[in-house]
Amino acid sequence: MATIFTRIIKGEIPSDIVYRDEQVTAFRDIEPQAPTHVLIVPNKEIATVNDVTPEDEQLVGHMFTVARLIAENEGVAESGYRLLVNCNRDANQEVFHLHMHLFGGRQLGPMLARR
Ligand code: AMP
Repeated sequence: MATIFTRIIKGEIPSDIVYRDEQVTAFRDIEPQAPTHVLIVPNKEIATVNDVTPEDEQLVGHMFTVARLIAENEGVAESGYRLLVNCNRDANQEVFHLHMHLFGGRQLGPMLARR
């Protein structure tokens, strides 16, 4: 189930990496929807939130710790930011390798578009 994110993590294709360690890699989204738009991706291949297991709890928690660090580094910690994870069709998940979006740097508006 390797996706383009696995190739980024392995350094096989270029990306703008802002953070990496043994557990996660974070890089700028290729189509940013805010001045700061970073994807925080576990190095382990997990397709969706539906595939997260209790064994992954430390890893998923670490994604939040890294998000906090990146928000500080990007200068958006105080002004605010949004963390978002899409799962499957109704959320328009495009890449089936678990990832957390970090959006910041502008007023982000309501959480969901109102119908
Ligand atoms: P999602 O809809 O949550 O699956 O989001 C996938 C995100 O991956 C989108 O915001 C894309 O713009 C982003 N994306 C796709 N390919 C790349 C890439 N090669 N480098 C950086 N971001 C990418």
